[in-house]
Amino acid sequence: MTAIQLHSLGKAYGAAEVMRDVNLSIEPGEFVVLLGPSGCGKSTILRMVAGLESVSSGEIRIGDRVVNDLPPGDREIALVFQNYALYPHMTAFENIAFGLRRLKVPKPEIEERVAKVSEILGITPLLQRRPRQMSGGQQQRIAIARAMIKQPKVFLFDEPLSNLDAKLRDQMRIELKKLHRMQTATTVFVTHDQLEAMTLADRIVIMNAGIIEQVGTPEEIYYSPRTLFVAKFVGTPNINLFPMNVDSAADGLRLRSEGFSIPLGSQWNATVSKGQKLIAAYRPKDFVLAKPDTPDVLAMTVELTEMMGDETLIQGTLGGQQIQVLVPYSSQIKEGQTAHLTLRDDRLKLFDEKTGLAMMLPSDQRHSL
Ligand code: ADP
Ligand code: MG
Repeated sequence: MTAIQLHSLGKAYGAAEVMRDVNLSIEPGEFVVLLGPSGCGKSTILRMVAGLESVSSGEIRIGDRVVNDLPPGDREIALVFQNYALYPHMTAFENIAFGLRRLKVPKPEIEERVAKVSEILGITPLLQRRPRQMSGGQQQRIAIARAMIKQPKVFLFDEPLSNLDAKLRDQMRIELKKLHRMQTATTVFVTHDQLEAMTLADRIVIMNAGIIEQVGTPEEIYYSPRTLFVAKFVGTPNINLFPMNVDSAADGLRLRSEGFSIPLGSQWNATVSKGQKLIAAYRPKDFVLAKPDTPDVLAMTVELTEMMGDETLIQGTLGGQQIQVLVPYSSQIKEGQTAHLTLRDDRLKLFDEKTGLAMMLPSDQRHSL
């Protein structure tokens, strides 16, 4: 198994610098997902690793080789794109076998390898069809088979599921995970879909405008976002943000905004101080319905409800902010009613208003980049 390392990687197209100082170390056999909004540079990284795009500065290592100047064909990688790019005039078999035929692999071996890969991917009945005789999901499986048959050391996927409908995407996601378990090739997978990233990744790399915001396991990214960008990008429905001032009261530090104030647990004493301007962030599930006479209860008029199965998403205004809260469906809360809410202390995330960086608790240190 092969490690991949990016050292201070940069990319410019003419005068336009689209990426700078990207550092990333991918372990042998790891499944790493590059996640970020459109245009943040995910494909550019993948294409540089693949050798389809030149490196403007820095270094890429695959295994123990610096590959900056190595042609794509010598990198022992396989690439799967969003558009399957199958040869339309060839059957599925011929598409899958194409690379091996070009390498003059003997015919019986080709047939054996195609049969094996096809079995794993469940495409044996499709082998004599041409691309236009197959659905999108089937074509994408052929494209994956074509990549797998090369037995690459490194798999690169660029949004391979984006063209599939939701149900098929779910199914293919599970299959890709199983495939990775079987093959354990080092994998770099690009997507803008956080669900895909969360479910597939050993580690997620969150990118924003050509830089890395955070690298971490799905748990670290979700529970301990290092920046406001990460907190906002990951999690549905969106995280709720409140601009707050730190104030001190008889019972300790409190966060205060125009509409409300909440106590800060003493665990924050070492990290924040009076007068600081912070953004408090709570996910919709970090609120708990409470009795109206609970201390520090927040009262919110419910303006809109959305039934989401076991849960109801309620929307309203708190401290001048439009917020979204998930409550159990069984609470039967209706539009026009007042929701009394408390906040889960252990879920509070605080960010510096100016830098957007997370205020870290001593227990968060292991989640640092
Ligand atoms: P993503 O895959 O995350 O959507 P890309 O890696 O495709 O983003 O693009 C990153 C940035 O580089 C974007 O601003 C894009 O416009 C720019 N870019 C990509 N390819 C080229 C190119 N061939 N010429 C000029 N700019 C490019
Ligand atoms: Mg892209």
